[in-house]
Amino acid sequence: MKRPLTIGVLALQGAFREHSLALRGLGAEVVEVRLPEDLHGLDGLVIPGGESTTIMKLARLYGLDDAIRDYPGPIFGTCAGMIVLDRKHLGLADLEVDRNAYGRQVMSFEADVELAGEASPVHGVFIRAPRIRDLGLDVEVLGELDDEPVLVRDGRFLLAAFHPELTDDPRVHELFLTMVRGAPHVSDAPLASVPRGHSAGARAAEESEVQRCEGGGAGLRPAVAARSEA
Ligand code: GLN
Repeated sequence: MKRPLTIGVLALQGAFREHSLALRGLGAEVVEVRLPEDLHGLDGLVIPGGESTTIMKLARLYGLDDAIRDYPGPIFGTCAGMIVLDRKHLGLADLEVDRNAYGRQVMSFEADVELAGEASPVHGVFIRAPRIRDLGLDVEVLGELDDEPVLVRDGRFLLAAFHPELTDDPRVHELFLTMVRGAPHVSDAPLASVPRGHSAGARAAEESEVQRCEGGGAGLRPAVAARSEA
């Protein structure tokens, strides 16, 4: 039987509660990350949408910018989280985005996103979304809207321009958990004895709610070749 995954959600600002709910619904244990020590022992990390300038400012204040740079596991960034991970910010994922620049609509819109390897699209909620301007050669495009990449994977980084945590469709979070299950540190390192910082106490109360993740893979798979946007 697989052990539940422990996923950190950066909880400085933005839609972290919605990500926590989505992840718990898939059987993961969730740790809200507010300090560098909260990253210890996590199987994966989510950086939510919100306001990237605020998230970066608070991350610097608490030393989480360097701590996240040093964190070796899989990271899923949505919207502002994607911005925070790009070349111009934390410099972790090999892509560049323009803030508040997706499509023709400046503010918000909803649209179906075509997914590689999936028969049905996911409903994408775009809120002042970043638009991917340039992708490194090794970045896989997993989801597109109007022929533009909006869901991509760069090795251990999964990045969405939209907000999968704001719909009931679990497929993008499932994809992330499948990536986490496949990460080398998850199979190598049992987590039982690893300290998890100040959030550990809160987790105990939540554990009864957590369902175990018995499901298989997410179904999603990279089918679109790596590409570079001009
Ligand atoms: N526009 C925001 C930013 O620049 C991102 C919006 C979002 O995360 N929904 O950070």
